[in-house]
Amino acid sequence: MSSLQEVLQKTVREGELYEKLDRGFVRCYACGHCCRIPDGQLGVCKVRYNEGGKLLVPWGYVACAQCDPIEKKPFFHAYPGALAYSFGMLGCDLHCAYCQNWVTSQALRDPSAVSPPLRATPEGLVEDAVQQGAKVVVSTYNEPLITSEWAVEVFKQARAAGLATGFVSNGNGTPQVLQYLRPWVDLYKVDLKSFDDRHYRQLGGRMQPILETIRRLHAMGFWVEIVTLIVPGFNDSEHELQRMAEFLVSVSPDIPWHVTAFHPDYKMTAPENTSSRTLQRAAQIGKAAGLRFVYAGNLPGRTGELENTYCPNCRQLLIARLGFHVLDYRLTATGSCPRCGAALPGRWAAEFQGQITDQPYLPRLQRFDRVRAGRR
Ligand code: SF4
Repeated sequence: MSSLQEVLQKTVREGELYEKLDRGFVRCYACGHCCRIPDGQLGVCKVRYNEGGKLLVPWGYVACAQCDPIEKKPFFHAYPGALAYSFGMLGCDLHCAYCQNWVTSQALRDPSAVSPPLRATPEGLVEDAVQQGAKVVVSTYNEPLITSEWAVEVFKQARAAGLATGFVSNGNGTPQVLQYLRPWVDLYKVDLKSFDDRHYRQLGGRMQPILETIRRLHAMGFWVEIVTLIVPGFNDSEHELQRMAEFLVSVSPDIPWHVTAFHPDYKMTAPENTSSRTLQRAAQIGKAAGLRFVYAGNLPGRTGELENTYCPNCRQLLIARLGFHVLDYRLTATGSCPRCGAALPGRWAAEFQGQITDQPYLPRLQRFDRVRAGRR
């Protein structure tokens, strides 16, 4: 029987985010590791590899395609109530012990992560998205940066169909990959996991590329929202949360910051669930630092007003939520407060057209067959 690695190596093509170096080496720029890869070897992510001096990258499959409310990504300032057709491939450049998508992200490192790839085409995915009524197509579930070429191909079709596009990412980017994505990606969510480089190294990365990516994303005009999963004992100290919030304010006080509750997952089972009190404390730190939009996630109905959006000028309630459910929507057609006229930063539809779902569901996947070992 073929290994997953062998199966995936049947569904590749030459990448665009790399340069050829001397002696058959290549340098990949899809993520902040910038791997220098000798002929016959894999990058750190284990899905991009050098074959004969060419960088081959994942192509033509999905590990998962799911319909999610956009609030689950989470984007709170982009098309509230929209359906986000979400797809992912396999692999990640980090190896977080608490990953909630470890079945797809760690499939190449962990034999207990079983997630068989399904053959897909960009046209088929987008057709499916349109049939479900999606307004946004999102690359998520694994780290989308490492599969950027495939995401862009899907997004070209999505744009042609009038859909918006998004990345849900760890933010370990490079200037090259952001330039590559800029024409095709509207929304970009970054997981800011810590403000301590030692913590990032435990997860397999470095902090600096993530901070630089957040600055660049904002400067380049992507719509950016930041999520921090608050893990008790890992990143919930006053000092660390304050430094995160101050950094985000220095980029823009209009960036929404979602502080979300951890529950034990994958290999990190020792810390307790994050309490609502901890989320409220983190949110308070964010607001005191100057962030104008701070949200608490994963504990619906237990964090007071921290799921809602208020006008930063007159405090009028603009969007009321419970979990992923939009309860009330009062923005004007231009995305402004109806009471004082202040513009709300984000990407807004001319009108709220209701919500197709507030729960994830699987689309019909009949058109996607299992990728099997075969000739390339
Ligand atoms: S995506 Fe990142 S980890 Fe993978 S080969 Fe490229 S630089 Fe290395």
